[in-house]
Amino acid sequence: MKAHVVLLPGDGIGPEVTRSAHRVLLDVASRFGHHMTFEEHDIGGISIDRYGIPLTDSTVEACRGAHAILLGAVGGPKWDDPNAKTRPEAGLLAIRKELGLFANLRPIVTFPELLDASPLKRHIIEGTDILFYRELTGGLYFGPSGCETLENGEQRAYSTAVYTTSEVERIVRMAALAARTRRRKLTMVDKANVLEVSRLWRRVTARIMQDEFSDLEYEVVLVDSMAMHLLSRPKSFDVVVTSNMFGDILTDEASMLPGSLGMLPSASLGNSGPGLYEPIHGSAPDIAGRGIANPLATILASAMLCRHSLGLEQEAAVIEQSVRKVLADGFRTADLVARGQPSIGTEAMTDQVLSALEQIQSTTHA
Ligand code: NAD
Repeated sequence: MKAHVVLLPGDGIGPEVTRSAHRVLLDVASRFGHHMTFEEHDIGGISIDRYGIPLTDSTVEACRGAHAILLGAVGGPKWDDPNAKTRPEAGLLAIRKELGLFANLRPIVTFPELLDASPLKRHIIEGTDILFYRELTGGLYFGPSGCETLENGEQRAYSTAVYTTSEVERIVRMAALAARTRRRKLTMVDKANVLEVSRLWRRVTARIMQDEFSDLEYEVVLVDSMAMHLLSRPKSFDVVVTSNMFGDILTDEASMLPGSLGMLPSASLGNSGPGLYEPIHGSAPDIAGRGIANPLATILASAMLCRHSLGLEQEAAVIEQSVRKVLADGFRTADLVARGQPSIGTEAMTDQVLSALEQIQSTTHA
């Protein structure tokens, strides 16, 4: 197959980890006989430095014309001035909006070799495999908001959570379809005991599940309970769907289960057009340029890219198996070991993934 991928390395360790995932995709393409082309563009702080804005029209156009987008990370202290006209993160919000990426998928999978890196007990997290679907372009972060000064001099500020039926329908359908290919369970998280907007989510989801997905197990959990259940019974969840802000908070909480930010990928998808794939971590300015960043989250994001945007399930599975093999063989970047323990750098870790890929592919074809 032919595929065109736009690379948006961004800032800090973004370029380092994107380079690793790029190497993996090139290797997979040549092994499996695909023609993949790549084109690199700026986003975030580097784009502000070069063009004065975090996302240019030409970057957006290039993304529109691609099959998929692989992003590193944006941001850093250089662009943190609260009085600055624009910020790197605005580039991220803009690209999601421009491309209609309304669903953020975040898999939370624990790796047997890293269980002791988690702050939670092994018997609680072992076997955890959750796929979050967070709504990304609506809700509290995009509803009417403002701040006004009252007659008595006090300030009054408000942010409003707004959803329409169709916004809820499209993400619930996407999540339920995914549940059908997994352990066939969907959990919807809301706050319907208090919020009107959650009551809409509950009615719409219940109807869709009854009419179109009655073959799936369906449960509803209040967001405050979910915050507890994620830490006490994470294994009981399969696919979880929720609104923008609840998803933002719950997925960050869940990211602690596997033990390191450096292991977690995510995907942002719309109904059509290219998907955007990235690690969940930021630009890690504290370690940028030292060659020690963990590239595995971005490499796992490239596996998601193969699966969700290119329909290459086998290739995605081989990348994921390679990451597992490298961990099983004992290779670790600095973030995965206790202080003073031996570790390898970004390039060496990528070399190990490529060598595992070769071994796995040759065994599969033997
Ligand atoms: P961060 O994720 O960049 O770093 C948090 C900690 O984790 C740091 O100690 C860092 O060294 C470590 N870390 C992160 N990724 C790592 C990796 N791959 N390998 C090894 N260690 C890793 O979060 P932060 O420090 O809060 O934010 C730094 C900058 O990144 C800020 O400007 C923030 O706005 C931005 N940010 C961007 C994104 C994004 O681009 N999607 C997401 C979060 C934060």
